[in-house]
Amino acid sequence: MFSERIERLTGSLIREILSAAQRPEVISFAGGLPAPQCLPALDFSALPPGLAQYGTTEGEPALREAVAAQARDSLGIDCQAEQVLVLSGSQQAIDLISKLFIDPGTPVLTEGPTYLAALQSFNLFGARITAVPQEDGALSPAALAEALARAQPRFSYLIPSFQNPSGACYTEANRRALAEVLDHAGAPVIEDDPYRALSYDGEAPAPLVSHLKKAPWVYCGSFSKTLAPGLRVGFLIASPDLYPYLVKIKQSTDLHTNRPGQWQVLQLLQSPDFPAHLDRLRAVYRAGRDAMQAALERHFADLADWEVPKGGLFFWLTLRTRQDTRVLMQRALAHDVAFMPGEPFYPVPEEGLGHLRLNFSHASAERIEEGIARLAQIIRNA
Ligand code: PMP
Repeated sequence: MFSERIERLTGSLIREILSAAQRPEVISFAGGLPAPQCLPALDFSALPPGLAQYGTTEGEPALREAVAAQARDSLGIDCQAEQVLVLSGSQQAIDLISKLFIDPGTPVLTEGPTYLAALQSFNLFGARITAVPQEDGALSPAALAEALARAQPRFSYLIPSFQNPSGACYTEANRRALAEVLDHAGAPVIEDDPYRALSYDGEAPAPLVSHLKKAPWVYCGSFSKTLAPGLRVGFLIASPDLYPYLVKIKQSTDLHTNRPGQWQVLQLLQSPDFPAHLDRLRAVYRAGRDAMQAALERHFADLADWEVPKGGLFFWLTLRTRQDTRVLMQRALAHDVAFMPGEPFYPVPEEGLGHLRLNFSHASAERIEEGIARLAQIIRNA
């Protein structure tokens, strides 16, 4: 009855965890939800009535201008508004890129670990995924060069800033070295950067794509983490050789992103309160990060190893015993604690044995302490 790709649909485990985590008694470190008190008040009372009409696929011109100006002035990306495509969440970039590049068997390169919903999309279209392992919060340029030469991927998908799930943020020098290797290989580079603004100990270095000289590129950004994920507004900026294809695919996917959402994003971005809103967001999440670090030091010192993330929303733990964290997750849920097992973040799930992703932006400090203590006890008992 269905297309062949439906056999490659995955994700039931993740839906199961996230739906169980919604029970109020569950202390959830599973999702990547913003803290409810950090969501801005939405106000559509001054929405121009004309925005009830169909709009253009590329997006609202004023929002495209604002995105391009920010990318040029603050990120060092050489671009024009004509290269900006407003999206229904940056997740849509992953869908459009999959449709543009992937046939069954197409080689694709990612980091290992990488964003699980990108893996789901690439797999759905039949990609053959090669993952370059992250080492000590960096990607080795030599390992990347070797993987590019061996796999000949049609594109590389990277998350250099506060990665989901590892939290790693590559240094400026590492980015430059990786850009050189990627330029040399010549295949398109996709940089996914939704966490950039959530930095707690100084800003992330300029995007990797700002260092490219030759390779085609797509830079993906989101307003989900800084404003409100429910608005479903994100964007991509693409090199001129890729942009027209992405617009046509977007058109056949959903015609355009919802216009009231785009208008609301622009109002919030241009509000005089926006810088203070970002400061507040960083303060709340920094406190959550610090509360989780303190709880982990108390309860996990002999159980796991981890780096303190300098931004983003997650701790990434490596257990000292290589156990299947999917099994552990079932036990944790039975004790009303939820986390994300490591396996789905790898193209070969078994490579992810013994990792846990813990979100620190949603639970209160007291619930973080209680949940981490409970989780440590469950791991000891296992
Ligand atoms: N990319 C990464 C790495 C993410 O972590 C997420 C959200 N969890 C997204 C893309 C999608 O975000 P959105 O569609 O809400 O912009």
